[in-house]
Amino acid sequence: MDSKASDNILDLQYFGEFGGVNPSISDSSTYTFISAKTMFDTFEGNTEGCYLYTRHSSPSNLYLGEALAALEGTESANVYASGMGAITSVIMQLCDAGDHIVSSRTIYGGTYAFLKNFVKKFNVNSSFVDITSIEAVEKAITPQTKMIYCEAVSNPLLEIADIKALSILAKKHKLPLVVDNTFSPLNITPGKLGADIVIHSLTKFINGTSDCVAGAVCGTTEFCLSLKDVNNGAGMLLGSTLDSLRAASILKNLRTLHIRIKKHSENAMYLAQHFEKDGLRVVYPGLGSHPSHAQMNKQMDQEYGYGGILTIDVGTLENANALMELMQERNLGYLAVSLGFYKTLFSAPGTSTSSEIPLEEQKEMGLSNGLIRFSIGLDNDIERTYRVMKNCMESLNIIKTV
Ligand code: PLP
Repeated sequence: MDSKASDNILDLQYFGEFGGVNPSISDSSTYTFISAKTMFDTFEGNTEGCYLYTRHSSPSNLYLGEALAALEGTESANVYASGMGAITSVIMQLCDAGDHIVSSRTIYGGTYAFLKNFVKKFNVNSSFVDITSIEAVEKAITPQTKMIYCEAVSNPLLEIADIKALSILAKKHKLPLVVDNTFSPLNITPGKLGADIVIHSLTKFINGTSDCVAGAVCGTTEFCLSLKDVNNGAGMLLGSTLDSLRAASILKNLRTLHIRIKKHSENAMYLAQHFEKDGLRVVYPGLGSHPSHAQMNKQMDQEYGYGGILTIDVGTLENANALMELMQERNLGYLAVSLGFYKTLFSAPGTSTSSEIPLEEQKEMGLSNGLIRFSIGLDNDIERTYRVMKNCMESLNIIKTV
């Protein structure tokens, strides 16, 4: 039987130079060599175990990269200074001028803006499709297409990509399937379902303490090394390198990811079920009413649940804003973007994290102004949280009291 990713992460042992239980942090941007020849060979990428300059790699970044490769079951992983640093490096690495990208239309707003606007500078064009329709994805592929891009669980609509079916399609057309797994680490392992490259914003669940931005690219050793190539590597040349101190702290937080994800999922499931019973329009992959509930069940690891994100549509932006302000006042969480914190975070994506998507397109994809995205926290007593949240909704007439 395959060992679990969480156990593989815990099995990785790195000791500090004085026998510390955590690895020493590499507090240097540059490394000395006794021989000039070894320096030259290292520059050429021919010296195993030697470090040259931290933008290329550092021991702390390599440790974190190894742990993330263990998380996603890939050969290798590189770490970046942000999720966007990881995403933009992958796109720039895979595409040349004149190329085309097929992407899910419901993705993080920053990624959408990069694919829709920024890559045009390089004469790269993107088509945005309903990722749950394999026919629509196939229809959008042209001879210029260089990659298929999606999020395993999409931000903010929580659409579920059928990664196996997409990978079969990608292989048929000899395209890499790139999957952003930020919303569902451990819940879904896209690499095991056929994705070629798995991306994370480590800023979210993986770090889990909302104290830094960071990103990762998990894939084959060949692809990860190509990103670091001194002549042509987007990671190396665009320069979004993660700081070693941050890499060390993220690695420590990653060790407890399995416990946190289970609790986020348990709490989100409780609230989703109860608010749906109260008559609210709740979207959560764990609910039978979610259009891709069966698909989620097929590709998830049941042990970790359905993830910590849910959305509730409260009808209007006014309702959404009033509810979020009241919930914050009652200390239920924070009116803040991002996710994966111990405290519940909520925001209205239409006017925040997805505001890069034009209004007509938001409408077309079902992203309404009254939609609130919740990243459910690690509350110990979720029944109490539910009672207080429900009370906020009742006092604003969002849930009608009888
Ligand atoms: N991918 C997803 C799904 C996200 O939600 C985000 C940020 O919200 C990103 C990528 C970008 O990550 P970062 O903010 O770390 O650059």
